[in-house]
Amino acid sequence: MEKLIEKAEKEHCLSKEEITVLLSDNSINTELFNAADRVRKTFVGDEVHLRALIEFSNICKRNCFYCGLRAENKNIERYRLTPEQIIETAKIAVELGYKTVVLQSGEDAYFTAELLAKIIKQIKKMDVAVTLGVGEMSFEEYKILKDAGADRFLLRIETTDGKLYKKLHPAASFENRKRCLYDLKKLGFETGTGCLVGLPEQTIEALADDILFFKELNADMIGIGPFIPHKDTPLGNFTAGNFELAVKVMAITRLLLPCINIPATTAMETLVKNGRNIALQSGANVVMPNVTALDYRKMYEIYPDKVSVDYSSLLENLKQIGRTVGKDYGNSKNRR
Ligand code: SAH
Ligand code: SF4
Repeated sequence: MEKLIEKAEKEHCLSKEEITVLLSDNSINTELFNAADRVRKTFVGDEVHLRALIEFSNICKRNCFYCGLRAENKNIERYRLTPEQIIETAKIAVELGYKTVVLQSGEDAYFTAELLAKIIKQIKKMDVAVTLGVGEMSFEEYKILKDAGADRFLLRIETTDGKLYKKLHPAASFENRKRCLYDLKKLGFETGTGCLVGLPEQTIEALADDILFFKELNADMIGIGPFIPHKDTPLGNFTAGNFELAVKVMAITRLLLPCINIPATTAMETLVKNGRNIALQSGANVVMPNVTALDYRKMYEIYPDKVSVDYSSLLENLKQIGRTVGKDYGNSKNRR
C-alpha cells in the first residue's frame, strides 16, 4: 500500500484499480494525507489563496436532488441581489484585500450572459480576478463572459457515474455538463470542477472515475465536498457523506494533479469541526470565505448549517498551521 502512495507522489499517476484500493483501505489514511501535504508544499507552496464568495441569487431553475436551492423546494425564501449590490459587495471584498471574487448563484435566468458581462466588467476595473459559478450555459454565452474579463469558472461534474447522474438530475444531461466543461477549457477559463462524496448509491469505483476525469479534463481547480442531506429535498432522509472519504478523494486528487488549486470546502468544515484545517493539511491550498451580506447568506441554504468563517480568525488560524496568505491572484500553476 505504501508503494502505491509512493508511486502517486513521484509519478502523479494511478490506475482506476490502484485508486480504488487506496480509497478502500483506511489503515493508510495518515500516510496518504501526509503525502498529499508534501506534494502541495512542493508544487504550490505554503500560500493559501483566499477567494471572496458572493452568493448573489438563490433562484434556480434546476432540480438537483441533493440541493436545497432546487426549483421545487417551496420552503425557501428566494432572493436576488441587484447588479449594484453585487458590485458593491465585490468592492468591499477588494478593500479587505481579496484578490479574487467568486460570483455564485443558482441557475437564475434573470442573469443573462449579457447582464453578467456588465457586472464582470465593473468588477474587473477593481484589479481582481473573477471566478464564476453560475451553472450550465452555451458556448456562446460562456464566450460573452470570457470576453467581459471573467478569469475562472467552477462547474462540478458532481459524479461521473452517468446512471447516478441521471437519477439525481432526471431532467438534465450528463453529456451537456461535460460539454460545458470542455467548452470552458477551450475558451481559456481556468476551469474548476469536482464532485460530491457520499451520494446515495455512489460507489468507490465511481469516485476513482471522478478523479481520473479530473485528470482527463486537465482541470485547473478541484472542489470536493461531502454530501450533506437537506430535509426539503428528495435526498433528505439519506445519511451524509463520510468526511474522511471526502478528504481521501481530495488527497489523491492532489497527488495526481500536483499543480492545481484545491479549496478546503465549506461542506468539509460544516461536517467536521476543524475540517478546514484537516483539508489544508491534506492537499488543499485555497479557502473561499463567504462575503455575502448576512441576511442573504442564511437564505442560500444549499445544505443545512453551512458554516462561515470570520476573516480575522481565519488569518490567525492559517498562521497557527504555518501557512501564509497568498498576495497575488493565486492563478492555477497548472497553466504555466
Ligand atoms: N448552481 C451552480 C452553483 C451553486 S451550487 C452549480 O450547480 O454549479 C454549488 C455546489 O454545491 C454544487 O456544485 C454541489 O456540488 C454543491 N451542493 C449542492 N447540494 C449539496 C449538498 N446537499 N451537500 C453538499 N454539497 C452540495
Ligand atoms: Fe441549482 Fe446548483 Fe443547486 Fe443544482 S446544485 S439545484 S444547479 S443551485
